[in-house]
Amino acid sequence: QPLTIAEFAKKIGKNVTEIIKYFFNQGLMINQNMVLSEEQVGELALEYGFDFKKETSLTKENIFEQLDEETDSPESLQDRPPVVTIMGHVDHGKTTLLDAIRDSNVVGHEHGGITQAIGAYQITTKVGKKITFIDTPGHEAFTEMRSRGANVTDIVILVVAADDGVMPQTEEAIDHAKQANVPIIVFVNKVDKPGANIPKIKATLMEYGLVAEEFGGDIPFIEGSAKFKQGLDRLEETLLLIAEFGNLKANPSKLASGTVLEAHLDKNKGPIASVLVQRGTLNLRDVVITGSTFGTIKSMENENGRKLSHALPSQPLVITGLNEVPNAGDRFLVLNDEKLARQIASAQMLKKQEAERIAKQTLTLDSLKMHLEEGELQYINVLLKADSRGSVEALKSSLAKIDVNGVKINIIRASVGAISNSDITLASASKALVYGFNVRPTAQVRQKADEDGVEIRLHNIIYQLIEELEKAAKGMLAPET
Ligand code: GDP
Repeated sequence: QPLTIAEFAKKIGKNVTEIIKYFFNQGLMINQNMVLSEEQVGELALEYGFDFKKETSLTKENIFEQLDEETDSPESLQDRPPVVTIMGHVDHGKTTLLDAIRDSNVVGHEHGGITQAIGAYQITTKVGKKITFIDTPGHEAFTEMRSRGANVTDIVILVVAADDGVMPQTEEAIDHAKQANVPIIVFVNKVDKPGANIPKIKATLMEYGLVAEEFGGDIPFIEGSAKFKQGLDRLEETLLLIAEFGNLKANPSKLASGTVLEAHLDKNKGPIASVLVQRGTLNLRDVVITGSTFGTIKSMENENGRKLSHALPSQPLVITGLNEVPNAGDRFLVLNDEKLARQIASAQMLKKQEAERIAKQTLTLDSLKMHLEEGELQYINVLLKADSRGSVEALKSSLAKIDVNGVKINIIRASVGAISNSDITLASASKALVYGFNVRPTAQVRQKADEDGVEIRLHNIIYQLIEELEKAAKGMLAPET
């Protein structure tokens, strides 16, 4: 459609006078309300390196993909704070470290109307530079976000307790960070403790490919104590150094986009979402669309409850005004066109429902039957949790023997312990049935299973569990009602 000079300038992020000057240099006296001809638009687009076709082909089907391909001119880019995630084994001091960093930098709280746990916060270091920390509840949250295409983290801090060393969740964290391809800093915590053995941690981590700088590697190791606030300055310095080295930049002068970190429904205020701005500037009254809903931003607050009128790249904040509760990990973008936003949101919703329908279908015993009848399935994936090592082993060897007309049981995880969120995530991703033997899920885990369409079966007699799976493999099992 026809554009005026002012509109065109805004679209390509240039000053109006610059464009007026461009025409002036060609001997044309114009003002900013003049409507551009098609040739002139083409000419200007060429001059300013702006791909107009791309801009206009923003459709509801590919809007988020388009966003990924969008490039910013080098001069539009500005430094942005690094976004950091802290990972590590339980009890190694992640929470204490986050609190310590926050305490030593916090300037004062204001009482916010909407802020509860925002899931992220930003500090200003002594040298005046900012760092954003994401407070993800666990490693799965990190991976779940990534699996939805949301790469929010620039740097991972791996916390390892000096007296405890490398533990299962430490390994898990390393895997997650490596998969995400983000730089890792090791914070060796609790060095105040008598059993602290730092050389051993360095040696062990070397086996995982994390080689300290002193051994010729490139992984910074910082020794300290979250509890006694030791090593925090060095940690911050190192984060800033890596950020500088990584050349973290974003274009602040365009419509915002980013990721939803957390969201919930408030009885009085409606949907409340914690979001991280990744590009552009988010403003009050902006029309935002997420993976499944949209709305006009009614209020914005930072993690200390301070009201904001705008938010820059790497800034976490809480917003209200969305029509429904979005999912954690959903991307969002500003599209100041309410009608288009509505269309896109409903298209996204359809996509989501379709994906959920497919996921559910593949996972219930009901659909198992259908797939067996169609001869599509050679394996039934099973995730097994039990109360003791003995039962795990017994069940594993019995299940390995099941073979009903060529249909076998494939155990994707078998371990001791309660059914956890991480089990549901894995089961959902690998389309598995979850079996609990003498263990139960919590209500919260059960709810997640429902949401993800994962079926949980509970047993306390071995032969009954095996019989059920044999029947399932024959397609004879009626689903639980
Ligand atoms: P998280 O599960 O990784 O979040 O671990 P927490 O931050 O909850 O810490 C677990 C326990 O270790 C708490 O009792 C902390 O007080 C303690 N802790 C954390 N950092 C240190 C430290 O540097 N020295 C000592 N002695 N204890 C610490």
